[in-house]
Parts: sequence; C-alpha cells; structure tokens
Amino acid sequence: MLQTIKRPDSPVSIIGAGIAGAWQALLFAQAGHAVTLHERGDEAMTDAASHWAGGMLAPYCEAEIAEPIISRLGLRSLDLWRRELPDTPFNGSLVVAHPRERNDFERFARMTEDHRRLDAAGLAALEPSLEGRFRDALFFPAEGHVEPRRVLPKLHERIKAAGGTIRFGSDVIASELDGIVIDCRGISARDEQKELRGVKGEMILIETDEVQLARPVRLIHPRWPLYVIPRENGLFMLGATSIEAEDTGVSVRSALELLGAAYTVHPAFGEARILEFGSGLRPAYPDNLPRIGIRDRKISVNGLYRHGFLIAPALAELTLAYVERGQIDNEVMQCA
Ligand SMILES: Cc1cc2nc3c(=O)[nH]c(=O)nc-3n(C[C@H](O)[C@H](O)[C@H](O)COP(=O)(O)OP(=O)(O)OC[C@H]3O[C@@H](n4cnc5c(N)ncnc54)[C@H](O)[C@@H]3O)c2cc1C
Repeated sequence: MLQTIKRPDSPVSIIGAGIAGAWQALLFAQAGHAVTLHERGDEAMTDAASHWAGGMLAPYCEAEIAEPIISRLGLRSLDLWRRELPDTPFNGSLVVAHPRERNDFERFARMTEDHRRLDAAGLAALEPSLEGRFRDALFFPAEGHVEPRRVLPKLHERIKAAGGTIRFGSDVIASELDGIVIDCRGISARDEQKELRGVKGEMILIETDEVQLARPVRLIHPRWPLYVIPRENGLFMLGATSIEAEDTGVSVRSALELLGAAYTVHPAFGEARILEFGSGLRPAYPDNLPRIGIRDRKISVNGLYRHGFLIAPALAELTLAYVERGQIDNEVMQCA
C-alpha cells in the first residue's frame, strides 16, 4: 500500500506559473495546503509557452490526432474550467475546408465525435461573417476556448484568493525547497529530463472589425491544424505551426501560410492590421503524452505538448489525489 506524502505542516512549492503550475497551485491552495508558486519571469509571462497558446479547449477536435488519454483528461478538465471560471466561453468550435481538402475534411469527420454537420445556411446562421464562404462545416458544440493572456492572471488571482502565495522573479531549484515540490517548468525541466523536447508553435495576432467570430474556426490543412481564434476587441489569433525546432521567432514561410490561411477563411482578413508575430515551445516527451513523475516528495508535471490548456486542470486534480490519498493513475503517473 502506497504511503501518501501529505504532512499537515508540509509546504507545497510549485515551480513555474504557466498553465500547468497555475492549475496545480489553485487546486492545492483550495484544498488547504500552504502553497507558494515560484515563477522566474514577471507577470507578463512571456517566457512561458502558455503565453503564446491558442487556448482552445477542444477534446473532440483533438481526438483526430491525439491518444484517448487526452480526451479523458480534456473532458474532465472542461468540468473544472466551468467550475473555477464559470465565464469561460463554451461556444463550440467549427471545422471548415476548401474543396481541395475535401477528403481530409471527411476523414476528420469520421475520426471525431460529438459534432453536427452544418450546411452553408447553418454555418451562416451560426457565424454570419462566414456566409457564402464554405459549402458546409463541422460544429463541435461542447468545446470552449480561453484567452491565455487574460486567463493566466485570472488564475493567479484565484490562487491568491485561495490563500496561496505567488513569487514572480523567483528562479528556484527544486532540491533547495522544503516540503512537497511540484516541478512545472515546461521545456526548462530538460536539465533533469533529457527526453523532453520543444515543439515550436508560431502564431500571429491581427486586428480587424470587418470580421466577427464567436468561436475558433479550424481550417483543414495538409500539414498543420490551422485556426483563427477570436479574441476581445476585434483581435484574432492565427495559429499554429508545429515544427520540430527550438529556435524562436516566426519564419517567412510560416507567416505566409498562417496569413494565407486566414485570408482564405475570409478575404477581409487581408485588410487586417498585424499586431504581433510570436512563437512558443510546447514541452513534449517522445510519445507526446503528458506525465506526472513521482520521486519521493518531488513531483514533476510536464509534457503537456499541444494540450496544456485542455488538460492542466485534470492533471492538477490527479496530482492532488496522489498527495492526499496516494491514488495512482497508471496512464499518466510514473513512480521512480
Ligand atoms: C502557438 C501555440 C498554440 C497553442 N495552442 C494551444 C491550444 O489551443 N490549446 C491547448 O490546450 N494548448 C495549446 N498550446 C500548448 C500549451 O501552450 C502548452 O501545452 C502549455 O503552455 C505548457 O504549459 P506549461 O505550464 O507546462 O509550460 P510553460 O507555459 O512554458 O510554463 C513553464 C513556466 O516555468 C517557468 N520556469 C522555468 N524554470 C523555472 C525556475 N527554475 N524557477 C521558476 N520558474 C521557472 C517559466 O518561466 C514558465 O513561465 C499551444 C502552444 C503554442 C506554442
């Protein structure tokens, strides 16, 4: 029988205030633990992959390429997002394709569940800006999306409200911390976990009031899942490439593809103002699956790859269940 590692006086230190660490800190603080969340960057969080993310909460769409464990964690996480941040938009998401990608579109429909097929009129009723743009679309009504740059500060506020402490500008080393340590350093944890790699995702932020969308629109593309995500105040995020490289910035080729894709979703995007080019490194293990690694009182939560926003809440819940009750989830946890 596994011993639980909770002690009444055990502090819980969490390293990294990206989406993984933020959810860990929130659930542990709410459960009454003395939580300190250490983040080496500042409040802007520009060093975190989480800062650059689309923030789609799309367990059904992701099932096209991801393992069933991602759907399981994702579906549970949708409940936790609803519980903790009830204003999270759950407007669903749309998948569209141009005629030359017809076969890939049909394959996407076969590989995924919980969608409705819309004809052109149905699509226009849902998103009037897309009237006449596509013959049909897949609508996934249960999916949601968050704006990472707004939701991370909200989570940080909730951690403080639950009694946790957040230290920005705090670059810490796990072995120097007392009590339970939860390492959520993303790609920076490669100093200890050599098998971690960064998968570069590039994005572009544009602004226009010529197009209004209420939900993310994915465009079937032969190489990458490209999408347009509406933000507040007429902003749209165009994302995201998926490249096995760890450099920063956005290549001309990627920019052409992302901007071209947006232009084919709606020509009015051609007149939009470009506000920002950026990229982040998704932390991934060789199998692209998340892992909670347990070694004594040190726990590592990493490998969230392209699903950090989708699965971080459920990973935090599993970590808490382990610390409090010794509960092991064999699909996600590895004990040393
Ligand atoms: C372009 C793009 C689009 C994406 N779109 C989506 C999407 O739509 N939906 C989705 O679910 N996921 C998406 N992702 C994936 C998601 O962003 C990642 O899975 C997630 O951000 C990983 O979060 P993390 O907290 O593990 O790492 P990070 O966000 O990188 O956070 C790690 C933090 O640890 C800090 N840190 C490192 N070392 C130390 C130290 N020694 N002391 C203190 N702090 C330290 C870093 O400064 C950083 O802030 C996307 C990613 C990209 C790049």
